[in-house]
Amino acid sequence: MSRHHKAAIAGSGLAALATAARLHEQGVKDIAIYAGGLGGTPYIAAINFVLPDNPYGDTPEQYAADMLAAGYNIGNKELVTEMANATVRGYELLCRWGVAFARNDDNTIKLRHVSGHKYPRSLCQTTDLIGAEIEKVMIPRLKEAGVEFHDKCQVVELLTGDGKIEGFAVSENGGEPYNVYAPVVVAAWGGVGNLLGTSTYPDDVRGNTLGMAKRAGADLIDLEFIEFEPMVMMTPPGTVGEPCPTAMLGEGGTLLNSDGERFLLKVRPQGEAGAPKSLINHEIWKEVAAGKGNPHGGIWVDLRHIDEKVLKAYPWFYNRLMNNGCDPKKELLEVGPMPHSFSGGIRVDRNYESNVPGLYAVGEACGGIHGACRCAGNAASQATLSGLLCAEGILRTGKLDREISERPVNVKRDDAAREKFLPELQKIAARALGVFRSGPDLEKAISATQGILDDPAAAKDDFTVQTALSINLIARAALNRKESRGTHNRLDFPDASPEFEKEFTF
Ligand SMILES: Cc1cc2nc3c(=O)[nH]c(=O)nc-3n(C[C@H](O)[C@H](O)[C@H](O)COP(=O)(O)OP(=O)(O)OC[C@H]3O[C@@H](n4cnc5c(N)ncnc54)[C@H](O)[C@@H]3O)c2cc1C
Repeated sequence: MSRHHKAAIAGSGLAALATAARLHEQGVKDIAIYAGGLGGTPYIAAINFVLPDNPYGDTPEQYAADMLAAGYNIGNKELVTEMANATVRGYELLCRWGVAFARNDDNTIKLRHVSGHKYPRSLCQTTDLIGAEIEKVMIPRLKEAGVEFHDKCQVVELLTGDGKIEGFAVSENGGEPYNVYAPVVVAAWGGVGNLLGTSTYPDDVRGNTLGMAKRAGADLIDLEFIEFEPMVMMTPPGTVGEPCPTAMLGEGGTLLNSDGERFLLKVRPQGEAGAPKSLINHEIWKEVAAGKGNPHGGIWVDLRHIDEKVLKAYPWFYNRLMNNGCDPKKELLEVGPMPHSFSGGIRVDRNYESNVPGLYAVGEACGGIHGACRCAGNAASQATLSGLLCAEGILRTGKLDREISERPVNVKRDDAAREKFLPELQKIAARALGVFRSGPDLEKAISATQGILDDPAAAKDDFTVQTALSINLIARAALNRKESRGTHNRLDFPDASPEFEKEFTF
């Protein structure tokens, strides 16, 4: 079996849906989505857009400035500016495809203040997670519009010929792979968090895709910047892994150490609201290192003084806590940082095309936009806006009409290799690529993963090789960045962070 499409999209998260929606609006027919699940999208609580009638005098320019500052000034200025300038169009795209956002009593759009932003600009739903709403309304509409959805499909290898993309190989329901041919392939396969074992990521985002892109010849960028969510629930069981929204700090929540001290005020006297995630992470890690952490390696967040109605407006969070015997009105919550998203990925130009002609990347699959850390809620905004801009870039670059000839399927699978190497790879990644990194640990990780890459037993299985390559590449990027910046902390190099954190004056 084989299939042919004009545009084949790997993934069905927000970035994929936005790309497909905008392609359809521009008249493209024969768009197909192949995906293993829904990725991180159903968990999105916050998504930022700067709307023209906002009450704060907020502008796309301020939004871009916040992004660059939160990224420790190494984000891509051109892509950040284009993203910020497209903010209203991204909002309108989602509205056209049926997404509704929560409103205040006076019918204005409800805006929350999340981490890293000067002004409240985060849109949401108060009855369900906005990401779940997006999937719920957009998928049926895209199907109605003729976009094909192929569920439970893993893209297992990219196909190239003469250095250009030609499609990908897919395994449906774990079955024998077949080839899908397309002159335009959009990587919308999300990030890499699960490479490190424990993370907030769902299981269908596995991180081998980074190695897959590299094997197809794609340039990658900023791989050292794995984002840690600062306030993930650490106890009681049943709540573990649930992020306490950073918007709670905008609602009046405070962070406490074991002395009951609001430690963030030492570096941010203006308060916790809007503090960038990397700053919160750093300060939490400092408190833990000073012996002022909680028994699980984090700190406490205090929401007890927040009105119950406000807490209930985050129902996924509030209900999960209450259902597990944890009442945020009555007790302090034990929270701490956990791998959560990725700011590295496939390097793209302003059309969101990689250096491999016809291979585009959107959402968390593309890198180099946010720099060393991203503002909260911006993964979702970027997923939307990169999808929109990519779809327009695809039309601009005129790559949709190339004929592609078929070839035999060439995919290697060996379950014994997976069983042998994958647990080892996860341990290597967790040890070397966690919160604190050091040159010697990274060198060991590079050499151990290289050993696996050179092992003929591992070479029998593409997934194992892709996974080993992903970890190897991230470790190399982390070794090359000889400083601590944003989400990347090198124990053996001075902390560049305080210098950059001075910029967060709002
Ligand atoms: C618990 C949690 C809460 C979050 N909250 C927020 C938030 O409030 N605001 C925010 O901005 N961001 C948030 N994020 C991050 C956000 O979810 C992601 O950055 C966002 O979903 C990225 O969108 P995407 O479409 O690029 O990738 P995803 O939504 O992750 O989708 C990836 C897609 O690719 C598919 N896929 C992966 N590998 C393959 C493969 N080999 N073959 C085929 N398909 C594949 C997956 O099944 C999925 O369909 C959160 C993440 C988590 C885990």
